[in-house]
Amino acid sequence: MQNPIKKLAVLTSGGDSPGMNAAVRAVVRTCAFMEIECMAIYRGYEGMIEGDFVPFNARSVNNIINKGGTILKSARCEEFRTPEGRQKAYDQLKAAGIDCFVVIGGDGSFRGASIFYKEFGIPVIGIPGTIDNDIFGTQFTLGFDTALNTVVEAIDKIRDTASSHSRLFFVEVMGRDVGHIALNAGVAAGAEETLIPEQNLGLERLLDSLKRSKKSGKSSSIVVVAEGDKTGKNVFELKEYVEKNLPIYDVRVSVLGHIQRGGSPTAFDRVLASRMGVKAVESLLEGKANLMVGIVANEMVLTPIDDAVKGHTKIDRELIRVSDIMTI
Ligand code: ADP
Repeated sequence: MQNPIKKLAVLTSGGDSPGMNAAVRAVVRTCAFMEIECMAIYRGYEGMIEGDFVPFNARSVNNIINKGGTILKSARCEEFRTPEGRQKAYDQLKAAGIDCFVVIGGDGSFRGASIFYKEFGIPVIGIPGTIDNDIFGTQFTLGFDTALNTVVEAIDKIRDTASSHSRLFFVEVMGRDVGHIALNAGVAAGAEETLIPEQNLGLERLLDSLKRSKKSGKSSSIVVVAEGDKTGKNVFELKEYVEKNLPIYDVRVSVLGHIQRGGSPTAFDRVLASRMGVKAVESLLEGKANLMVGIVANEMVLTPIDDAVKGHTKIDRELIRVSDIMTI
């Protein structure tokens, strides 16, 4: 039987993450390899509604594997949340002869994709692009490894200052609901404590741990704090709290912010993006739909998008234990 898919589209949507370009490249090149047409959709669902489509061939994605952000641009699109907006998007896809698409984005983008699939039946496969690593159905999301390395590099630099001046630094990293970046960065950068949303260690334990650090002869300390940590205090309030209760400490705060989202993707993210892109196109050509590509035990796997959106990733308890042991 002849493959019914002749034209496939790719878009990036929601928050950007390093590795999105590498995934776009992989999708476009796989289409070229399989000899099917590929359309790039610019500006996420907004571009889908407006018909902002450009035909891409294998050469359209030269020299982007190493670039952060997304050359297709991303957008948050309120209109796509409405049935009228999605109807417009469907009309645009049909007019352009697009049979199916790959969306690279986070859980919001997947929610939109799933509703769209149920309404119009256009096959879609998702590639999880977010630095938070909080998507069910994959051990790694695209961009997490790069963000983690950026954070570790930043903390290494902060440590130079901390140890020169015998200071305590609270370093706030991204993660409103999940502490994957914080926990992994804490272990990799040798933090004294790591505060994450998944567990409330309590302020008493923080003070005890800092007292112990001082006693054991450590001249500087780094505490990594996820944005959504559960102490009930933000980093600046934590600084005040510790200065009040442990005046021996000279405390500083560093909020890493958006540097965590940018930058050239690591080799790990580039390889992951390439594998996910190939798997996404191959899955569509096999007639699969409404699924997300993930990596589990180094194998490419598919998870229903609805499960990916609803499920939650769990914090690695073994890594919490390792972190506790390392802070002795
Ligand atoms: P992310 O994909 O990074 O989680 P958002 O949550 O902003 O980012 O979602 C990206 C876009 O996906 C939104 O701007 C919107 O166009 C679309 N979207 C999100 N949730 C829904 C929904 N429930 N219904 C339809 N579209 C949605």
